[in-house]
Amino acid sequence: MPIKVLSEELTLAIAAGEVVERPASVVKELLENSLDAEARRIEIVTEGGGRKLIEVADDGHGIPSAEIPLSVARFATSKLSTIQDLFAIESLGFRGEALASIGAVARLELISRSVDEINGTRLVVDGGQVGEPQPIGTPQGTLVRVRDLFFNVPARRKFLKKDTTERRRISSLVSRYALAYPDVLFKLTQEGRVGFQSSGSGKSRETLAAVFGVDTARQMIALPATPDAPVKVGGYISPLSVHRGSRRGMTFFINGRYVQDASLSAAVTQAYHGLLMVGRYPLAVIFLDIPPGDVDVNVHPAKAEIRFRNPDIVFSVVQRVVRATLLGQSPPPAIDLQRSWGQADHSRSISPDWALSTADIEKPITLRGIQPALPAGDLPLLRVVGQVGAAYLVAEGPDGLYLIDQHAAHERVLFEALMQAGSQGKIESQTLLEPVTIEFTPAQATVMEENLEVLNRLGFEIEPFGQRTYRLRSLPDLLTDVEPEQALRSVVEDFEEDETPLMSETEARLAARVCKRAAIKAGQVLSLVEQQQLLRDLEECQSPRTCPHGRPTMIHLSVETLERQFGRRG
Ligand code: ADP
Ligand code: MG
Repeated sequence: MPIKVLSEELTLAIAAGEVVERPASVVKELLENSLDAEARRIEIVTEGGGRKLIEVADDGHGIPSAEIPLSVARFATSKLSTIQDLFAIESLGFRGEALASIGAVARLELISRSVDEINGTRLVVDGGQVGEPQPIGTPQGTLVRVRDLFFNVPARRKFLKKDTTERRRISSLVSRYALAYPDVLFKLTQEGRVGFQSSGSGKSRETLAAVFGVDTARQMIALPATPDAPVKVGGYISPLSVHRGSRRGMTFFINGRYVQDASLSAAVTQAYHGLLMVGRYPLAVIFLDIPPGDVDVNVHPAKAEIRFRNPDIVFSVVQRVVRATLLGQSPPPAIDLQRSWGQADHSRSISPDWALSTADIEKPITLRGIQPALPAGDLPLLRVVGQVGAAYLVAEGPDGLYLIDQHAAHERVLFEALMQAGSQGKIESQTLLEPVTIEFTPAQATVMEENLEVLNRLGFEIEPFGQRTYRLRSLPDLLTDVEPEQALRSVVEDFEEDETPLMSETEARLAARVCKRAAIKAGQVLSLVEQQQLLRDLEECQSPRTCPHGRPTMIHLSVETLERQFGRRG
C-alpha cells in the first residue's frame, strides 16, 4: 500500500483508543472535567457496568453555547494556550481530547448552560457524527450522557470484563476521587441503586468508610501535615494490623490527579519493611502536592502516568513520612517474623519475598551457608520435639530436623480438608444463633454478588438484605471459632483486589482465604497434643510442604547438613 495521510475519522478512532480504554476511563475523564469546572456537586449514573449508559451531571461553570461545538472537537480546550502552560499544568484536563474521543466511540449527548446564559445548549455526537447544537432549558452546569460505549468498535467491546468488574472499577474510582475532593458532593448510582455518596462537607474520614469499609476506615492513620517539605504529603495509611495480599490497596493523587506510579507504591511498601509479613501490603490513600513545574503529566493520553523532575526526592519524602508516622503510632511487634535467621546473613539467604512459583520453592534454600533442601513428596513420620517462639514446631524425622511454621502448616491442612469436603459436596456449616447483618462498601458488595454462589458452596449461608447489605446465617464449620462478621469480611477484603478471579480458580482461592482466617496464628501456644495432631494432619496432606498461598510450611535440615555444619563430615 502506498503511504497516505490517514483520514480524520481514522486518526480520531486511533486516538480514542488511547483515551478511552473502558467505562471507568470515561467516568474518569468526565469527573475531571466537572472538577475543572469547579463543580460542588457531581452525580454519576451508570447502567450495564457503564457500557449501556454513563451519565455525569455537575453544577460547574458550564460551557458557553458558542463553544459547545468546539468542546467536542479534537485538541480543543479552554485550559491551555501557550507551550509554557504545558509545563506547569494546574487543571486536570489539558489535551482537549476526551469529549472528542468519547464521541468517536459512543453516542454522546452534551447538555450545558454556562453561568451567564439563560438558555442551555444540547449537542449530540453519534459515533463521530457531530449533530447540530439545539437550545434547551437546563440548570447551570453540564450533563454528559454516554450511551452504548464501543458500539462501533467491536474489538474493544470484547476486551471488557464482566459488568460487575467494570462496575467495581467505577465505584472504586469515584470513591477515591471523593476522598481527594472532600468539598465536593459525589453521588454514584449504579443499576438504579445509589452505591455511594459523599457529603461534600470537607471531612474525608467519612468518605474513607466508603472506600475501605467502616471498620478499616476507623483504624486508618492520618499522615501529619508536612508544611516545610519540598513535596507536601497527606492522606491515610493502614496500621500494621491491617494489610492485604496485593499492592492494589494503595492509591495516589498528585495535585488532585489520580495517578498510577509504581515508584510511589514501592516507597510506601518500603516504609512498612520489616513490619508486615512478607507478601502482605498496606492500604494507603496518599495525596501529594508538588509544584506543577516539577511533574510532567503529559506522558500518556489517559494522563494516569506521570514523570517527576526529581523522582528520588519524591520517593524519599513519601517513604520517610509514612515510616515516621507508622513508628510513632504503633511499636514494632515483639516477635518480628521477618527477622528470621536469614537476615543476620549478608548474603540474604532467605528470599525476602515468598511470592515465588512452586518451582522456586522446590529449590534448595540456603540458610546461613547451610543447604537445607526441601525434599519433594510425602512427609516421613515426624516426632514432635517442641514449639519455638510460639510460632514454629521443631520435629525430628528419620532424615533429620524439621522446622514447621504452625500457621502455614495449619492453613495447608484446613485447605485440603475444605477442598475435599467441597468436591464431595458436604461442607459442614454451622447456623448462627442470630443471623448477622453486614454492610459492605460498594466495591465489596459487588464482590459479594459475584461470589455469592461460591461462598454458599463453601459453607457461608448468605443472602442479600437490601443495598450493599447481606445477612449471614451460617459459617463453615472450620470458622466457628472466629467472630462471624470478621470471618466473612476478611474473606471478602482480599478478594476485592482481585480484578479477574478465574472462575475455576475462585473456589480454591476463596477456600485458601477461609483457611488463612481459620488457621492457628503465630503467637499461639500449642499443647503437645495439639502439636502432634497438627503434624499427623500435615502428614496426611497431598502437598504438605507449601501453604495454599505457595509459601513453604517447613524447612528441613538433613542429618548430613547437621554433620557437615558440626564438622563431623567433609
Ligand atoms: P480537556 O478537559 O482536556 O480540555 P475535554 O475534551 O475533556 O478536554 O473537554 C473539552 C472542553 O470542554 C474543556 O476544555 C472545557 O472547556 C469544556 N468542558 C468539558 N466538560 C465540561 C464540564 N463538565 N464543565 C464545563 N466545561 C466543560
Ligand atoms: Mg477533560
